[in-house]
Amino acid sequence: MNSLINVFNVERFATHDGPGIRTTVFLKGCHLHCPWCANPESQESKPTLFYDKKKCVHCHRCVHALEDSPISFPNEVFHYDKSKADKVQACVDACLDDALSLIGEYRSIDSLMEEIAKDDDYYKASQGGVTISGGEPFDQYPALLAFCKRLKAANYHVAIETCGNFSDAQREAIDPYVDLYLLDIKHSNPNMIRDVCGGDGLRPLHHAKMLQPDKVIYRVPVIPGFNDDEATLLDILKLASVQHVKEVNFLAYHTLGIAKYEKMQRPYTLSRKAMDPKVLDKYIEKAQNLNVKLKIGG
Ligand code: SF4
Ligand code: SF4
Repeated sequence: MNSLINVFNVERFATHDGPGIRTTVFLKGCHLHCPWCANPESQESKPTLFYDKKKCVHCHRCVHALEDSPISFPNEVFHYDKSKADKVQACVDACLDDALSLIGEYRSIDSLMEEIAKDDDYYKASQGGVTISGGEPFDQYPALLAFCKRLKAANYHVAIETCGNFSDAQREAIDPYVDLYLLDIKHSNPNMIRDVCGGDGLRPLHHAKMLQPDKVIYRVPVIPGFNDDEATLLDILKLASVQHVKEVNFLAYHTLGIAKYEKMQRPYTLSRKAMDPKVLDKYIEKAQNLNVKLKIGG
């Protein structure tokens, strides 16, 4: 089956999304809304318009490209009417200064397989493979299942990065085709996950216990004021210890996604100061005492 998959980026030579050199395929669409999301363009399923005001020369070609353009410049401030989003490609095409771009496209599994195969020698030499990230990959189930089957049939090491909002039936069906789960454990308290990020806060913690331990890395984005207190981080390490999972990654809060919020005219509500990863070093010894392999960073 050659299903179509909604993709917003394909990153070759990735080294932080699983072992070895990898191609990471970023799927578009996520029903959560984590305030720190570094890929806000991944959340909506529809193509996302980026407007780069540094490149804009205010020529208004995008406005005049159509009779009823979704783009206008009241008081010379960019405005995008999303209710006319289906027409915006003409505006992007009219811009000669690269100030507009549409992010996201449906791609066939065949075309993704072709692109992935370009780096087969690197995967073999480094024991790498393919990571499917997002967005939330499981939001595109069953296309995700079809993609994993194709990858496994071609003998790739397959990793999925997920927020854990999937069903038991989906987990059981996809598991034979997945070698590694990079499972987001955003908090030890499911209500905090639900209230701040949305989705079902219980599910990631449930799958954290159900997945085969040697196929799971817990990934913890450490966010000031949300989960950076010692009690919460120790709770997560204790869960990892009880479950004997392969590894835990603490990912220090960063601000690399802020420019994207600006390009989408979305407010960024969290701190603009990144966390120094060194403040997390103190957990390495605590993790060792719990027999947990902890890595600071991905
Ligand atoms: S066409 Fe491009 S450069 Fe011209 S106003 Fe529109 S976004 Fe700005
Ligand atoms: S789960 Fe991931 S992709 Fe979805 S909003 Fe949160 S950080 Fe962004």
